[in-house]
Amino acid sequence: MVTATANVTSEKCPMCGSASNRTVCERARLGRQWALTECRACRLHFTAPIPTQDDLVAFYQGDYHSDLRIEAGTEKAFDAKYQRYADALGRHLPLGRVVDVGCSTGLLVRKLCDRGYDAEGIELNADSAAWGRDNYDVIIHSKPLEACPYGPESLDAILFTDVLEHTQHPRDYLREAGRRLVPGGIALVTFPDIWSIESRYHYLLSKLLRRDWMWGNCHVPLHVWEFTRVTAEACFTGAGFEVVEFRRTQPAPEPVDSLALKVLSAPTNLLSWPLLSSWFGTQMEFVIRKV
Ligand SMILES: [Zn+2]
Repeated sequence: MVTATANVTSEKCPMCGSASNRTVCERARLGRQWALTECRACRLHFTAPIPTQDDLVAFYQGDYHSDLRIEAGTEKAFDAKYQRYADALGRHLPLGRVVDVGCSTGLLVRKLCDRGYDAEGIELNADSAAWGRDNYDVIIHSKPLEACPYGPESLDAILFTDVLEHTQHPRDYLREAGRRLVPGGIALVTFPDIWSIESRYHYLLSKLLRRDWMWGNCHVPLHVWEFTRVTAEACFTGAGFEVVEFRRTQPAPEPVDSLALKVLSAPTNLLSWPLLSSWFGTQMEFVIRKV
């Protein structure tokens, strides 16, 4: 059920420090309640309480990624968008040393190697990392970025595709990662917009029908921060980056069992039209440069 929005958590905003906030919705995971909380000062949306490192590890145990670790599984899920990401990187960095953080099975790493980049991946899910090494013949480290052999200013680009929002503190994580980039180095960052048209529509449905699960765009607590374009750019600026390219796309709708939800979601299928997706799509894709 959707809960009242007046609940206030005692958690301070991890981006600006303000204690003034509102609860947007609540979700249960690992037998506990987590709130999507909006800071009234900077409008950042974040999970409260903020998950600990142990919580984050626990979220991804079990069969996470299992649909990718099968023949052609990753290609089916990600081929088109990885092509787009490689193209976006190529517009700003034709060649160089690149790391894909949170690379799952490493298909994007494979594509970048094929284009001539010196590319490696990082994936904390050991099963996915091992599967990728065996199937795509790429280097994938299964340990945190800070434990990998990348010294200060040793990388030309770092990719965070649908990964930064899963870290405990995205801005501080990005700033720390940025130390490994050469001056003017590039990062490709993607994640969904929590207040895209599609997300607003499903939020409204969930409120009207009192079915909280219908708001599939809300990924609390897996997404420790949920972004809008404005809060994303504030995060990048705070981490020492400037935006050099921005685009929107509309991901294919996730398969749902509920016929009612399928029918009710039909209007948002219009967002898949290229012109509409580039203006209003849920997925935000940024190329940012270290300043
Ligand atoms: Zn704030």
